[in-house]
Amino acid sequence: MDFTKHAESKHNGKKNDSLILMSELKQKMKVLGYATLRAKAPLTPYSFERREPLDHDIVIDIHYCGICHSDIHQANNEWDISTFPMVPGHEITGVVSQVGTRATRYKKGDRVGVGCIVDSCRECGPCRKGLEQYCIKGATFTYNSLEKDGKTMTQGGYSNKIVVDENYVLRIPDNLPLDRAAPLVCAGTTLFSPLMHWKAGPGKKVGIIGLGGLGHMGVKVAHALGAEVTVLSHSPKKQEESKIMGADNFYLTSNSETFKKLEGYFDLIINTVPFEVDWNQYLNLLALDGTTVVIGLPGKKIPIGAFSLINARRCLAGSLIGGIQETQNMLDFCSKHTITSDIELIPIQKVNEAYRRVVMSDVRYRFVIDMKSLDMNELRLISST
Ligand SMILES: [Zn+2]
Ligand SMILES: [Zn+2]
Repeated sequence: MDFTKHAESKHNGKKNDSLILMSELKQKMKVLGYATLRAKAPLTPYSFERREPLDHDIVIDIHYCGICHSDIHQANNEWDISTFPMVPGHEITGVVSQVGTRATRYKKGDRVGVGCIVDSCRECGPCRKGLEQYCIKGATFTYNSLEKDGKTMTQGGYSNKIVVDENYVLRIPDNLPLDRAAPLVCAGTTLFSPLMHWKAGPGKKVGIIGLGGLGHMGVKVAHALGAEVTVLSHSPKKQEESKIMGADNFYLTSNSETFKKLEGYFDLIINTVPFEVDWNQYLNLLALDGTTVVIGLPGKKIPIGAFSLINARRCLAGSLIGGIQETQNMLDFCSKHTITSDIELIPIQKVNEAYRRVVMSDVRYRFVIDMKSLDMNELRLISST
């Protein structure tokens, strides 16, 4: 994600001046959560303030928040763009508790979600196309990002309340439970967006590298779209589970035979793993005009041999989360096909242990924090000191 561009962006102009004035005139809302106070520090109870709802804002009582690997990257300042204290979390589901005076899209009691984006310029080409994640001026991300007032840092979903402009709030369909739906608004849309863009569907052979929080959503969505789905994983333990999720084939990446057998096989490969792989080896698995899409975020640069691309007019592409409308489309698609994330529900007191387990790929398949577990007494004590 190009958070750097966003962090440096300035939002000047009349509209934003009046926004600053309004937010300063209104009282702040007390919020309780968990934050990391510096890079690599454990998450601890934390009290902070959010703005009272402006005219078009919605206040959400957060019920659940998923743990995304990018929460850990940012809490550890691995991308060198982190600000602290940081309340991570952008896989938020909950219920509307308050509605701004001019907000019309939601009412009190509605089941809603908030993903990675809480605002954007709304005027640039990508924003006009509903692709706010590629906002030229830099989208406002749910945490570790600057609000439109140019001075307040956003804080995420490991907390009991969030205030968001209604245009960046998602509706969670009634048949999707809020805990299992939470990872859909980041992990789900991160897979749905490239699968739709590169037209996964009947007759298409789709390979998913890695069966983790992202990959398992890719298998479910690609299968529901009617594509033939192959999982490429280093873990033999995941074979059976991948079939239950809808995978047609499973191959071990530790077996060199896999790369001979599948040469020139796929129309689309989505690489979800956050570590270095042999990219040329995977590009060779693409058929004529096939595309490999990068969505995992390895730390190092990607070395590519020209022949891996030109031999079959192949493409190497990237894709970042999903826009607001396409995330809503994904939720409606998941509702229709009864797709949710496979989760391990945890109390927030176990968040640091969960972080360690995510780094070791030891989770089936996404941790989701039950926000009921926030210990208000513990937090009140912290906030009064
Ligand atoms: Zn995420
Ligand atoms: Zn924009």
